[in-house]
Amino acid sequence: MEEIRKAAKLLRDARKVVVFTGAGVSTESGIPDFRSPGGIWTKYDPDEFLYQKFISSEESRRKYWAFSKELWPIIRDSKPNPAHYAIAEMWRMGKLDVVITQNVDGLHQKAGVPEDRVIELHGTAWWVVCLDCGKRFEREEVHRRLLEGEEVPRCECGGILKPATISFGQSLPPDALMEAERRSASCDLFICVGSSLVVYPAANMPIIAKRSGAKLIIINLVPTPQDGLADVVIKGKAGEVLPKIVEEVKEM
Ligand code: NAD
Ligand code: ZN
Repeated sequence: MEEIRKAAKLLRDARKVVVFTGAGVSTESGIPDFRSPGGIWTKYDPDEFLYQKFISSEESRRKYWAFSKELWPIIRDSKPNPAHYAIAEMWRMGKLDVVITQNVDGLHQKAGVPEDRVIELHGTAWWVVCLDCGKRFEREEVHRRLLEGEEVPRCECGGILKPATISFGQSLPPDALMEAERRSASCDLFICVGSSLVVYPAANMPIIAKRSGAKLIIINLVPTPQDGLADVVIKGKAGEVLPKIVEEVKEM
């Protein structure tokens, strides 16, 4: 396919690559995304996930934890798919600067990208944090409490516990956001994979990269609002497209 070849040439010539990922990079690992048919939004009302609701209503927290109790084992037991491995391979090839991810599943790290090379813009599902005292708990520990019958777990200080993920209406961790903007502005190739590119400020990153002179590749199942900005757009499955691009570079 011509587009794969074009993308491979861009990767071959690049020295500092930022890979930006969304939920679509993990669907082939069995984790549903938000907006696809069968995605999380088709089963749950997005309003229920608003941060303001979570902090203001015990009932919202109950619903949130019930949803979260279902999703956590899927995330915990999921394995990286060929897309995550292809990205880790870019690291071994010396091409990758960082992965900026909107995902909370930790699969890039599981695939072998070093921890300090993954910027988690929307936090992580692997930790739970107390909104009052800031204490962090391992997610599995809190999960066990849910399994034992607690519906709305609390911190020992009495504070509200919340998974260390960023909800709608909650601001992004300022350090991660600044670092993501800085890396986006200083790469020479920016590759978006499996993101609908509609969730801001995350979706600003490709715009920042492009404005700073980087080439832009977008790989997604469906069109995104930023396709017009891209040098190469590839419609397809991340787990099929990314390994092909990496293989092609190795053969060049
Ligand atoms: P999204 O659900 O809005 O978009 C995902 C995009 O990926 C869609 O456009 C879809 O067509 C595409 N896609 C699905 N499967 C694909 C595949 N196999 N190959 C290529 N493309 C594929 O997700 P988003 O843009 O990441 O933003 C929504 C929010 O969802 C983020 O804030 C993120 O924190 C959260 N989220 C994360 C996870 C996770 O950690 N795995 C899962 C669900 C939602
Ligand atoms: Zn506390």
